[in-house]
Amino acid sequence: MTAPRPANAASCSCGAWWTGLTRAHCAACHTTFSTDNAADKHRQGRFGIDRRCVDPATAGLTPVTKPYGVLWQNPAPEDGRAWFTKPST
Ligand SMILES: [Zn+2]
Ligand SMILES: [Zn+2]
Repeated sequence: MTAPRPANAASCSCGAWWTGLTRAHCAACHTTFSTDNAADKHRQGRFGIDRRCVDPATAGLTPVTKPYGVLWQNPAPEDGRAWFTKPST
């Protein structure tokens, strides 16, 4: 990664950095996600028992290449309302 780091970039002790107020960076596996919601999806299992990180691809997330590396995000819904049942007509 040779891109210049903007002054407003956030960073982690692992060396990763990113921009964007809604970003989430996992403190366990040091993966960067577009939002907390996306980050939640790669954390599976039960809290305090077997909570763990899984491969973001396995969790259904989509990688996007950014100047600072790979950002994982939710796949874009086709029409923004993909979770609603479409009318049959
Ligand atoms: Zn993680
Ligand atoms: Zn990190």
